[in-house]
Amino acid sequence: MFENKEQFQAAFKRRLETWFGKRFEDSTLQEQYHTLGYMIREHVSGDWIANNEKIRSGGKKQLYYLSIEFLIGRLLGSNLLNLGIREVVDKGLRDLGISLPEVEEFEDDAGLGNGGLGRLAACFLDSLASLDYPGHGSCIRYRHGLFEQRIVNGYQVEYPDQWLLHGYVWEVRRPDESVEVNFWGEVKTEEIDGRLGFRHVNAETVLAVPSDIPVVGYGTETVNTLRLWNAEPNPRQSVFRTNLMDYRRATDSITEFLYPDDTHDEGKILRLKQQYFLVSASLHSIIRTYLKQHRGIRQLHEHVAIHINDTHPVLAIPELMRLLLDEHGLGWDEAWEITTKTMSYTNHTTLSEALEKWPIRLFQPLLPRIFLIVQEINERFCRALWERYPGDWQRIEHMAIVAHDVVKMAHLAIAGTYSVNGVAPLHTEILKNREMNLFYQYEPHKFNNKTNGITHRRWLMKANPRLAETITELIGDGWKRDPDQLQQLQAYVDDAGLQDRAYTIKQMQKRKLADFIQRRYDIAVDENSVFDVQIKRLHGYKRQLLNVLHIISLYNHLKEHPNSCLDVPRTFIFGAKASPGYYVAKKVIKLINAVAERVNGDPRTRDMLKVIFIENYNVSLAELIIPAANVSEQISTASKEASGTGNMKFMLNGALTIGTMDGANVDIFERVGYDNFFLFGLRSEEVLSYYQNGGYNAWEYYHNSPVLQQIMNQITNGSFGGTAYEYGPIYDSLLTENDPYFVLRDFQAYKEAQERVAMCYSNRPVWQRMSLVNIANAGYFSSDRTIEEYVKDIWHLEKL
Ligand SMILES: *Cc1c(COP(=O)(O)O)cnc(C)c1O
Repeated sequence: MFENKEQFQAAFKRRLETWFGKRFEDSTLQEQYHTLGYMIREHVSGDWIANNEKIRSGGKKQLYYLSIEFLIGRLLGSNLLNLGIREVVDKGLRDLGISLPEVEEFEDDAGLGNGGLGRLAACFLDSLASLDYPGHGSCIRYRHGLFEQRIVNGYQVEYPDQWLLHGYVWEVRRPDESVEVNFWGEVKTEEIDGRLGFRHVNAETVLAVPSDIPVVGYGTETVNTLRLWNAEPNPRQSVFRTNLMDYRRATDSITEFLYPDDTHDEGKILRLKQQYFLVSASLHSIIRTYLKQHRGIRQLHEHVAIHINDTHPVLAIPELMRLLLDEHGLGWDEAWEITTKTMSYTNHTTLSEALEKWPIRLFQPLLPRIFLIVQEINERFCRALWERYPGDWQRIEHMAIVAHDVVKMAHLAIAGTYSVNGVAPLHTEILKNREMNLFYQYEPHKFNNKTNGITHRRWLMKANPRLAETITELIGDGWKRDPDQLQQLQAYVDDAGLQDRAYTIKQMQKRKLADFIQRRYDIAVDENSVFDVQIKRLHGYKRQLLNVLHIISLYNHLKEHPNSCLDVPRTFIFGAKASPGYYVAKKVIKLINAVAERVNGDPRTRDMLKVIFIENYNVSLAELIIPAANVSEQISTASKEASGTGNMKFMLNGALTIGTMDGANVDIFERVGYDNFFLFGLRSEEVLSYYQNGGYNAWEYYHNSPVLQQIMNQITNGSFGGTAYEYGPIYDSLLTENDPYFVLRDFQAYKEAQERVAMCYSNRPVWQRMSLVNIANAGYFSSDRTIEEYVKDIWHLEKL
């Protein structure tokens, strides 16, 4: 079907006409997209069946990666790339008068995630399949993913995401593999064969129906599965007719929306329901598959590894216990041993507001049997602690899983798994020495680091094909399977020819983004300006505010010095969604847009300075924006960003980082050195010491800086639109609340780092060399490396 252009064209036309019952010439983009999608699915079906057969016939150990988010973005382009048929399809369609990029644009992003955590899970799936490991994802099929963001009068407005509107070509619904998930009801105890047994009665049963998405590896025959669970009414559930509507509504709501916030625990019962729904459905189906081939449940951990991505799927631990105890008749000790040998856990954050704690009053009625098991886990855990630390009540209280009327999910995760990892060395050290120090003292062997990564296939080969080609011409294409080989570029960083080509490609990508901005926002940006980009979720700790304050200071400087100009013209590009209930974050969006309007409209500044806010930041926009970036803004308050992965995508595309010593910035910095990174700001120890010992006074920095005073005045006196109160929350955060993210503290250092950026950019050979050094050192940050580390140290998988 994809052997050559002619064969593809014939198959494409035939299929389109038979499926849609119309002449090819009359087909719409949607029909063309769907035809191509189905053809690809058909193309991989043979390998997919073969892979599923292999699972059923025993063989290799399987990994299941449980995550409440998978931010996979579009799949057409990445599937074409991984299957090695992009060129044939592109040429074939072009002859038919169809543009492949246009067809690709038709696909809606599957926005089944908020940001970094979900995107990491998606990169891991790509690497697992590309490295030939049997590793599968399990998630919820949210009918509405992360909200669609539009900017109206400078404010963020949220619309429901409609990714399923045109149907979804990549999924296969498998109703025959549905399972039941139980909520509410009561637990009855009874004696069975002389043992105490537990029965969950009067439960509300929901049907979990899976839809499977094939996950295609790059140049391999491995096709793994991403399984998305949909909640549906159970026809076997008995409900009174009058309650039928309520039951249906309650069921549907479980998988209706993705929660638009991964840093707050909303305390919503629905969120807890989603979490249990995901793990219960996943475990049922994992064990069912396992038992098809293996006789005893006691060997589960030898054939299955289950990974818990952050605390959201932690209920997998008590749920597996429940299955082993209540459905397979194992004793507690055996069940606990199997569970803790099967499960591993990644911690993603030390932000205290993100550490999930569920009030017992919500937890117990919704999940009565699971609650009993969690209590038992807690009691045994505390007893073991007591033996180890006799009399140390305080320590035991701090470490307890159930305490002060809440269930602490992170504590359950550490107690119930054999491996706990952080996502960058700094983050893991903070976990071990501070946040989870007591647990580290108790079981140091569990703790390890796995520095995050990104798939270089999507983020370089797919997003920036010209750069990929240029690299291949120089060093061959070994780097595609073994990204460490990008190191070979180091020999060419001074090569003027390569510098020129890299420059030309960057300019081409900037032109492409500039065209997009022109079309979408009717703003002309100068492609010879520095494209300085900050795209990520909007959050206090990520400090978009620091970036805006600096832009205002540039603007003020130009206005006050009528004959001055910037060292280089600059375009500041933002993309960021704020959680709908995050008030200050939304004010920062408003401020960015207000500054943009002022700066872009002022004849004095508009030729030197532009500010662009791109709406609805998502994976596909990232693929457009990142290859066009000169400067990557990674300016979080040190100690707050566990790793970051945006930073890696930019580096791989030759952008230079202006950043703090935070998360994986530290590791980027260590690889490229001081000369190829614009480092500034407080170090994590300084930040942590401020938090611990006090000593920071934001007012002091305000009083000592006329530049900051002027900016704060402008913010509060209506210079950027609105009333005096518009930006009150920002003023309060920076001054009244003593600037918890140290924006004012780091302002001067940031400004100076930005001056270094301008200086370097003015010297093209210098800049191009720095850029190439970054690309040459980016191979380490491929998720292929990350996955190999997980496999070796945690999951112990074999290649297919
Ligand atoms: C990579 C990525 C992120 C994570 O970005 P950070 O800068 O690490 O926070 C978030 N959203 C999308 C769409 C991404 O592609």
